[in-house]
Amino acid sequence: MGFAIEVKELTFSYGAGTVLDGINLTLEQGDFIGIIGPNGSGKSTLLKNMAAVLTPTGGEIRIDGKALSRWRRRDLARRLAVVGQESGSGFNFSVEEMVSMGRYPYLDRFGSLKAEDREAVERAMHLTGSYHLRERGIFSLSGGERQRVILARALAQETPCLLLDEPTSFLDLGYQVELLELLQSLNRREQLTVVLVMHDLNLASRYCRKLCLLYGNRIYARGTPEEVLTRENILEVYRTEVLIEPHPLDGKPQVIPVAAATPAELKNNFKQRVHLIGGGGSATPLMKELFVRGFTLSAGVLSVGDSDWATARRLGLLMVEEAPFSPISLQRHRQNLELIEKAGAVVLAPLQIGPGNLLNVEAAFCALQLGRPLYVIDDPAVQARDFADGRGKLLYRRLQEGGALFITSLSSDELIARLSAAPS
Ligand code: ADP
Ligand code: MG
Repeated sequence: MGFAIEVKELTFSYGAGTVLDGINLTLEQGDFIGIIGPNGSGKSTLLKNMAAVLTPTGGEIRIDGKALSRWRRRDLARRLAVVGQESGSGFNFSVEEMVSMGRYPYLDRFGSLKAEDREAVERAMHLTGSYHLRERGIFSLSGGERQRVILARALAQETPCLLLDEPTSFLDLGYQVELLELLQSLNRREQLTVVLVMHDLNLASRYCRKLCLLYGNRIYARGTPEEVLTRENILEVYRTEVLIEPHPLDGKPQVIPVAAATPAELKNNFKQRVHLIGGGGSATPLMKELFVRGFTLSAGVLSVGDSDWATARRLGLLMVEEAPFSPISLQRHRQNLELIEKAGAVVLAPLQIGPGNLLNVEAAFCALQLGRPLYVIDDPAVQARDFADGRGKLLYRRLQEGGALFITSLSSDELIARLSAAPS
């Protein structure tokens, strides 16, 4: 039997302001969706509307094609189970009694558990690692143990859909991953539909097939983790500069916080792209600094596999790449010049100069010819980096004569100050 939830133009307010406005969301059997968003963005409110704990102010939610308001409690409880944030109990039930409550939609009017009910309860306790706690009173449990018992109660309900509100919040890393793997295996083996409100973006990315990012009373972004967890979305919604790296095992985007978003008054006012010429790691410190300060960057020509190349790729920069250990070809050189032509400023990093990459130094002349500001970072000084029979030194002298601005400190402060002062 298929299962479906449709949320149509859902609006909700607790009284004063609107919390959710015009939410549309459709879920089918076997979906595994994560609801993410900053504190107070309405994740719990959305889940409670879907669970019929709250009644929409506007719009409609349908389960299996039937409006939520028309479902009888008991029937609904056979279709979806909820793991809420505050679902505890005021009474000190034993764990087994607590998990048994998951069976109430199946009990007859005498409320007695049949063999199949007991089996479901045991199975749920085993699955969640709470079987050994079955005789304990729930008041004596740790936060993490209680959370597993609440999950067990929901699993005992044997519904095709589970709604969970931050079910991992009290769990240590081991139990978090275990719980998510359990949900994943139930999703894969039994087509369990999972709606998971999650705080941890990286775990959400790894376990949810789709994500739905709530912000500003609406769905700000939705789609695969790759589509939703972008640097731009996270900067806007969480006000944080981040790097997005693929997980080494499954390639799912992982979010690495870098710094709080630069406040508007400290934002750099250089709006054009800055092109970095580097190689061998010479441009990496600048690349990172400028990136964090919000500059738009490009880079070239970088050899595939070298550390500047790796950094540029991680930061998602526009760049010209050359095959590893190959001299820069004319074709790559021309592409580099094209990036320089459209840049607002060019920076020549203190690269090691050899016959294979002299063209990178040559490329800097293009900036001078076009009247673009060219910043030459000469720390260490070129003498110490010239492995091209003095040709590097010669080119640097000509760059200086041609009007390049030499900066003799590797610290990015001077460069950033000069860029910020440059007309843009
Ligand atoms: P999230 O789960 O994303 O942190 P919530 O759905 O809990 O967000 O809350 C969304 C907004 O609604 C918040 O501004 C919160 O203060 C408000 N809110 C939540 N519950 C209530 C309530 N019972 N009464 C009034 N306002 C509430
Ligand atoms: Mg919440």
